[in-house]
Amino acid sequence: MTITRAIEPIPADDEAIRVALKDAFLPALLPALAQATGDFSLLREELRPPGIAMGAEQGGMTPEQQETARALAFDALTSLRGRAFDDGAYPADDDLLRITNWLTASPASAEYLPLLREELAPTGQDPRAPDWRYDGKTPFFVAVIGAGMSGILAGIRLKQAGVPFVIIGKNAAVGGTWFENSYPGARVDSSNAFYSYSFAQKIDWPKYYSTQPVLLDYFRACAAEYGVRDSVRFRTEVLSVTFDDARNIWTLRLRTPDGGEETIEAQAVISAAGQLNRPLMPEIAGRERFAGPAFHSARWDDSVDLKGKRVAVIGTGASAAQLIPVVACEAAELHVFQRTPAWFVPSPHYHDDVPEGLQWLFAHVPYYAHWYRFWLFWMSTDGLLPAAIVDESWPDKERSVSAANDMIRALLTGYITSQFADRPDLLEKVIPSYPPTAKRMVLDNGIWAQTLKRDNVHLITDAIREITPRGVVTADGQERAVDVIIYGTGFQASRFLTPMRVVGRKGVDLNAQWDGDARAYMGITVPNFPNFFMMYGPNTNIVVNGSIIYFSECEVQYIMGCVRLLLEQGHRAMDCKRDVHDAYNERIDALNRQRAWGASSVNSWYKNDRGRVSQNWPGNLIEYWQQTRQPDAADYVFL
Ligand SMILES: Cc1cc2nc3c(=O)[nH]c(=O)nc-3n(C[C@H](O)[C@H](O)[C@H](O)COP(=O)(O)OP(=O)(O)OC[C@H]3O[C@@H](n4cnc5c(N)ncnc54)[C@H](O)[C@@H]3O)c2cc1C
Repeated sequence: MTITRAIEPIPADDEAIRVALKDAFLPALLPALAQATGDFSLLREELRPPGIAMGAEQGGMTPEQQETARALAFDALTSLRGRAFDDGAYPADDDLLRITNWLTASPASAEYLPLLREELAPTGQDPRAPDWRYDGKTPFFVAVIGAGMSGILAGIRLKQAGVPFVIIGKNAAVGGTWFENSYPGARVDSSNAFYSYSFAQKIDWPKYYSTQPVLLDYFRACAAEYGVRDSVRFRTEVLSVTFDDARNIWTLRLRTPDGGEETIEAQAVISAAGQLNRPLMPEIAGRERFAGPAFHSARWDDSVDLKGKRVAVIGTGASAAQLIPVVACEAAELHVFQRTPAWFVPSPHYHDDVPEGLQWLFAHVPYYAHWYRFWLFWMSTDGLLPAAIVDESWPDKERSVSAANDMIRALLTGYITSQFADRPDLLEKVIPSYPPTAKRMVLDNGIWAQTLKRDNVHLITDAIREITPRGVVTADGQERAVDVIIYGTGFQASRFLTPMRVVGRKGVDLNAQWDGDARAYMGITVPNFPNFFMMYGPNTNIVVNGSIIYFSECEVQYIMGCVRLLLEQGHRAMDCKRDVHDAYNERIDALNRQRAWGASSVNSWYKNDRGRVSQNWPGNLIEYWQQTRQPDAADYVFL
């Protein structure tokens, strides 16, 4: 797979342009053309897309607006024939603001400019790459734990700075989540234009939301193209990481592929162990007594043929909602056990190929893919956060948390109702009672309702009492006999880094220090654990969509800043100050309590056993970017 492609010249054939324009996503096309032609009059006020319109085609532009936009785009495109582009050119600040103000319903302020310059980095440019090099004078070696999206990214940045490193991954290949989740229907639910590294943009994604094999290929290609694959030790698990106070060195104890043990040493450790790869099996009486095959969605058993079988799927969260429609087509009978319904968000293109015309435009229109990525960035993230913020005066916060949140509730309820209008028996089971955004929302193109309405599918909302050798028994005593049980019950997300043992200064055990309530400064560092940095650590998950890749890019920027600080200032180790860490977490906790996911009492993987939201970042994306640009030496004790 080639990751990035050069923009191709506009051909002489008018018809090819007209055909392609039928598939254009117009809100992002006009900005790209304004940038390419320098003609900002293309961004007419009367053509401005109206903004957040869940599932609305063309950002809610009317058919008349679309027609005018296509005509303008045609003229602009033909005027570009024969012109050479510098696809690496940035617009001037004023032009950048002008475009973003036109594109977004709530204008982006100047504070977004530096972020936009990184996020909209033109093809082939990587403004986030470290602009410094390790000089090799002081011994410094970094051990990265995990070879998923974050571990590969850490390797890329370390390599760019010339810092020696190794990546230790317990799987046989890179990819983490996208290696481990091979269940049928597995795909990303953030659009790929945004779920991809900012510096490795691919303009020819085959689908809007790629399936697992395509994502796995992408991460494999990135690891190979950026030269980090050969630095990965596969099938090797880190069992423990221990800090030596006398030498300021970390020792990692490894389980090697042959089952033996080995230790290695490093001046710094980056844990990229992920939040979502330790399957959570529900505590249901009798689970181990079931006589047939039973497995978790993330440990899919390909040897089990589901054709003609009676199958139970326990759980209806994000993974289950993806696999259930596929299993339903194979199984003779499918029993879906639902504890809490998800909010389904209309996403008409969820399973669609990116149409040929749009692919053509991405390949021929300079900057188009960048503006398309920006549209997604804005509309599905910071633009949506206000709807999750609690209005203290709002009356029934278990239903919705503010007027904006209630509006989303009404929109989604309307959508779900339209899907199940002919099945009132199902409708009453699938409308959530809790506020939208309190749990992970699930994208839908209508397939959920189609699946639940099938004759061979039974939606069960009674609590499960036990599992017998034959099947699943609900609280009312009814047993559903099944041949196979699939657990779509999520992950032990809040048990960060387990089962690995991390021992810091003076023998302090990280999990003992956390005591079931993981927290970190910036989600990255913890007092008593010098030079131990986390990616996708506590409070760095996002709810109102967005992409974990964005967060990992911020985290690695901060971590590389720490490494630079250590090397340039001649320190051996840096330990986060307790008061800095505590004040940060108080702020995060206060904000999370004011978000739908913190205020609502609904069960979710965002909260740990103590009821604290240990997973989620509560702010805007830009706030996380701002705080992770570089470390402040005053936040640390240097050893
Ligand atoms: C089914 C599914 C769908 C998802 N969809 C989206 C989405 O649409 N958008 C989004 O933003 N995010 C999504 N996520 C979240 C996803 O986890 C992140 O986007 C991203 O893949 C995390 O990458 P990571 O490298 O941080 O962690 P992971 O991908 O979990 O990789 C961590 C790796 O570290 C390895 N590891 C752990 N401990 C050790 C150890 N002790 N020794 C050696 N190796 C170790 C693990 O085996 C794993 O391979 C999804 C997650 C799942 C499970």
